[in-house]
Amino acid sequence: MRELLDKLCRDRRLSREEWRQLLAHRHSLDRQALFDRAAAERRAWFGDRVYVRGLIECSNICKNNCLYCGIRRDNRRVPRYRLDRDTILACCEKGYGWGFRTFVLQGGEDPGLTPEWVAETVAAIKARWPDCAITLSLGEFDRAVYQLWFDAGADRYLLRHETADAAHYGRLHPPELTLAHRLDCLRALKDIGYQVGAGMMVGSPGQSADTLAEDFCFLQDFRPHMVGLGPFIPQKDTPLAGEPAGTLEDTLILLALVRLTLPKVLLPATTALGTIHPQGRELGILAGANVVMPNLSPPDTRDKYTLYDNKLSTGAEAAEHLAGLKQRLAAIGCTVAVARGDAPQ
Ligand code: SAM
Repeated sequence: MRELLDKLCRDRRLSREEWRQLLAHRHSLDRQALFDRAAAERRAWFGDRVYVRGLIECSNICKNNCLYCGIRRDNRRVPRYRLDRDTILACCEKGYGWGFRTFVLQGGEDPGLTPEWVAETVAAIKARWPDCAITLSLGEFDRAVYQLWFDAGADRYLLRHETADAAHYGRLHPPELTLAHRLDCLRALKDIGYQVGAGMMVGSPGQSADTLAEDFCFLQDFRPHMVGLGPFIPQKDTPLAGEPAGTLEDTLILLALVRLTLPKVLLPATTALGTIHPQGRELGILAGANVVMPNLSPPDTRDKYTLYDNKLSTGAEAAEHLAGLKQRLAAIGCTVAVARGDAPQ
């Protein structure tokens, strides 16, 4: 295992078979040595800075029926909402005052968020706060729509690939959603000029060393600017309600391996990681993560964006408690960076 890790750090890539071996035996790695190596890599590129992004959950209405997701179309138990533009701008205004310089607009694939409406919203944010970056995470669209939003001022796009193994993808999604289309979207986004985020859940049902090897082969070839990687957490009103959650240990190991594969990557310590362990966010940073995304959505909508059970949206997850987050990061030797935090070239 030691030789494979050395090879990864030297070449930033492994063959599919080497990935399979490393991932199949990942629990026998010297964890502290792995995390220290990943954290050193993070420091080499970013120093002690951790970037914050203000997350605005624009809509929990979704036309898709992903088997794992609590806001899937067929979940009749979730009260639905869609933020209007003034509310989104008010969230940005608050966030700007607190020091946020990236706003992430995330939501379900809501037919009510038309391409034109999104473009006008992006343009309105950019007109008022031109020094801010805008990240969109709204799902799969035609290239022309991604281009429209890019031209309106969007800088980045998060679209987790979820799993790079087509059969595994089919186990997590209804037949009308395909890995091939998701990957086409990612390629189009990169080609247009977005800073692009891919990523996957850790411990999703059916995940194995083989499917993870496909993920790492995809990541090392596609080289996204950002990777969203957090544990799968079951949501009680979904078909995968009875499945076990991904573990802290696994998530930390995979975060560290992503950092060693893509040293300059922007890698969030996700809300899901903070949800499965009270120190999850800090442990994620110590394993190589360098971004946190506190929730800037209006407080009365936060409990409706229920992707999974017990999702955190208070304490250090809440944008209004940035001071608390700063203290927690200071305790692990990190500072909150209030810059836009673009991906290094
Ligand atoms: N609709 C957009 C999309 O498809 O990318 C963005 C919203 S989607 C809800 C954001 C991410 O939430 C997904 O990419 C997925 O990885 C994550 N997610 C959904 N359900 C989850 C669960 N049960 N546990 C952990 N993460 C989950």
